[in-house]
Amino acid sequence: MYDPSWARDWDAVGLVCGDPAAAVRRILLAIDPAPSVIEEALAWRADLLITHHPLLLKGVHTVAATSPKGRTVHRLIRAGCALYAAHTNADAAVPGVSDALARVLGLTDLVPLSADPGDPVDKIVTFVPEPAVEKVIDALAGAGAGEIGEYQRCAWTAVGTGTFVPGAGAAPVIGSPGERSLVEERRIEMVVPRQRRTEALAALAAAHPYEHPAVDVYELASWSGPRGIGRVGTLGAPTSLREFAMLVAEALPSTAQGVRIAGEPTAEIRRVAVCGGAGDSLFDAVRAAGADVYVTADLRHHPAADARELAGDGPPFLVDVAHWASEWPWLAGVSNRLEGALMDAGTPVEVLVSIRSTDPWIFRVPSPGGMIR
Ligand SMILES: [Zn+2]
Repeated sequence: MYDPSWARDWDAVGLVCGDPAAAVRRILLAIDPAPSVIEEALAWRADLLITHHPLLLKGVHTVAATSPKGRTVHRLIRAGCALYAAHTNADAAVPGVSDALARVLGLTDLVPLSADPGDPVDKIVTFVPEPAVEKVIDALAGAGAGEIGEYQRCAWTAVGTGTFVPGAGAAPVIGSPGERSLVEERRIEMVVPRQRRTEALAALAAAHPYEHPAVDVYELASWSGPRGIGRVGTLGAPTSLREFAMLVAEALPSTAQGVRIAGEPTAEIRRVAVCGGAGDSLFDAVRAAGADVYVTADLRHHPAADARELAGDGPPFLVDVAHWASEWPWLAGVSNRLEGALMDAGTPVEVLVSIRSTDPWIFRVPSPGGMIR
């Protein structure tokens, strides 16, 4: 569901501790590997804890039980509970963390706010005498070439003339050593995922009748793929910024922070950008997407103030929620998909979503002001 290669290069995702060969019957899902969550996992006898945030994002030289993170590693290993992190790879996935946030707000027609490039693709071109054309296309298709969306064995061909002079030591299928040959050949073009290049070239070589087939491999330019960070979508009907903020507050789990809004309460909202977690690096993408409002977490004074200044009192307005609350809706979808997939595989597991808040902020007092009101 969350290929580690989709993670940002600064990230640290995957198995943090645990033995891949160990049996898993109970899986607890949570956003943070916080002490209260570890407590819950061990009390429920989970075999695996899956969290969004990595326990060890920065390099460590010790997991001695003298530090909080070291203690967490010790407790998990002692109890036989593995820990697995799916962080920015889960942000980028479809469906991913921001899809869940967008869905609970009722957004539809979701696209990435900042799209990742699509998977690398090559184009293989070769030249084949007529009788072997279908065989070569079949061989390439069998090695993963020619898949475009829901279509398989896609190829483009054109007829042309090949010419060559076999050398004295050659064993040509067509023609004789020392004599010029002219052969009607077909140019075959097929796309292939770059990771299957070697396999496709081997299949081509095996199926092609020539001793030394002419082959070109082009690395295609990459452009926006379906995955990426954040999402943009549309509300079913336009609403005011105030109503929208109330909707956000209703849809997300309760936190001390609540929902903070920058913008005119009566302004109309229709197109919404969201980014689960800290999204203040995506303001350019939010503006480019034409969003009326941006829902994210951890908005600091300067990025927020600068973004509002650039907007000149107009959209995009800002809605700031607690980091944990913005990502928590993702867990329900993970639970359903894991349970479903493992049930279908004939290895059913119990999956539980932690409802303990790991938002560090516990309470809030209104600030009426002493000196300035
Ligand atoms: Zn986060």
